[in-house]
This record gives sequence, structure tokens and C-alpha cells, in this order.
Amino acid sequence: MPIYEYYCHRCQSRFELLRPISRMDDPATCPRGHEGAQRVLSLFAAFSSGEEGTSALGGSGGCAACAGGHCATCSFS
Ligand SMILES: [Zn+2]
Repeated sequence: MPIYEYYCHRCQSRFELLRPISRMDDPATCPRGHEGAQRVLSLFAAFSSGEEGTSALGGSGGCAACAGGHCATCSFS
């Protein structure tokens, strides 16, 4: 399952959730139990740099710094 990022307006925090693609736009429940959190664009998007909470999770798409391109850190492609 892909991981998506959600934003809870109640506690004004972002969190990540593993979900099926078919439910990616459904309202989520934040770690503090608030319902109705909305999906935000993933930190894996091209403009991820500068966003707070960016974490290098590793994986298949290169590192967080290069966002799927290539860089000295991961030498992807
Ligand atoms: Zn919350």
C-alpha cells in the first residue's frame, strides 16, 4: 500500500497513513483521534524540500533530497 500524508485541522499537525489507493481521498483519523483529516500532497512530490516533517524513508524512488531524480546521496539512475 502507498503511504499518504494527511493534515488534521484540529491539532494542526501532519501525519502519514498507509492506505489503499481507492481510499486515499477519504477523511482520515489523526493519531490523536480527531476525525476528518484531509489528505495533503505527499512529501514525495517534487517540491518536497522545505516542507516541515520531511523524513528520508528510503525506498525505491531515490532519497528525499532528490525526490526521484538523481543526486550524490543515492546515485539513483
Ligand atoms: Zn488531530
